[in-house]
Amino acid sequence: MRSLLLPLFLTVGLCASGRMASAQGEEQKPAIAVEKWSGKTIMLIGAHADDDALSHGTLAMLQAHSNQIYIVTLTTGNVGTQDPNLSRTQLAQIRRQEERAALGELGIPAEHYINLGYDDGLLEFEDRKAVLENLVRWIRKLRPDVLMAWDPGKNYQRWHKSDHRAASYLAADAARAAMWRLLFEGQITQEGLNEYMIPEYLFYNDYDHEDENTWVDISEFVEQKVNAGAKYISQFGPGWKNYKPNLSEVELKQMKDGVRGRIQMKDSKPVEGFRYYKGLPDAIGK
Ligand SMILES: [Zn+2]
Repeated sequence: MRSLLLPLFLTVGLCASGRMASAQGEEQKPAIAVEKWSGKTIMLIGAHADDDALSHGTLAMLQAHSNQIYIVTLTTGNVGTQDPNLSRTQLAQIRRQEERAALGELGIPAEHYINLGYDDGLLEFEDRKAVLENLVRWIRKLRPDVLMAWDPGKNYQRWHKSDHRAASYLAADAARAAMWRLLFEGQITQEGLNEYMIPEYLFYNDYDHEDENTWVDISEFVEQKVNAGAKYISQFGPGWKNYKPNLSEVELKQMKDGVRGRIQMKDSKPVEGFRYYKGLPDAIGK
């Protein structure tokens, strides 16, 4: 794939940054450990309410360390249920309430949750240019120091299920588009925004960890992660098949045990793993 794309890439417009970026090293590490980050603006792009849950320990830590965190979720999550009695509208409302409750456990303000309102399950069939424009607008507004997103893949495209697949590429494409003054120029000439290049990235992934190069020690934030994860009643536990807003103590404990059981361990410490990348958006996959 790469051998076919590379020559094209070097002959298509906006390619100067690609040549600059390709000189960068293969393996990257944050210059300052994530555990020491402070005063940064962090933007997380996900497809669904709960996509950020993979990073809840890290987000709780970053929030505690005086960083500004914004969660941008592309879909309302209005499809993913096995409960035959829920409508799309009800599910979207439940997902919003659960997400805000989860973020509340992490200390992230409710107004830092931005939902772009697309339909669950159909993200890759949306008008890509319109979604991209929407994401670029938020990047230019928030001007994040760090973008967290589904990992689109390093060296090879990473397979994700639908919506995650779209979200990974849309986030990377939006990061790239945001830096070009003449792309979505109206945001600059009419809306008072400026072009912006995101300097650092933490890419997350849910089922394999082979490209991870950075592991955040979440030892002190496990309880917050567990409590936040237990807010997604409609996605996990008995609420998946038969939604109810409140669980019994036993059911709640089962949900918390489930979150706890999925935490990755490294060197006997609870961690969240990421692929860290620093540099021009053109080389996110290199
Ligand atoms: Zn998801």
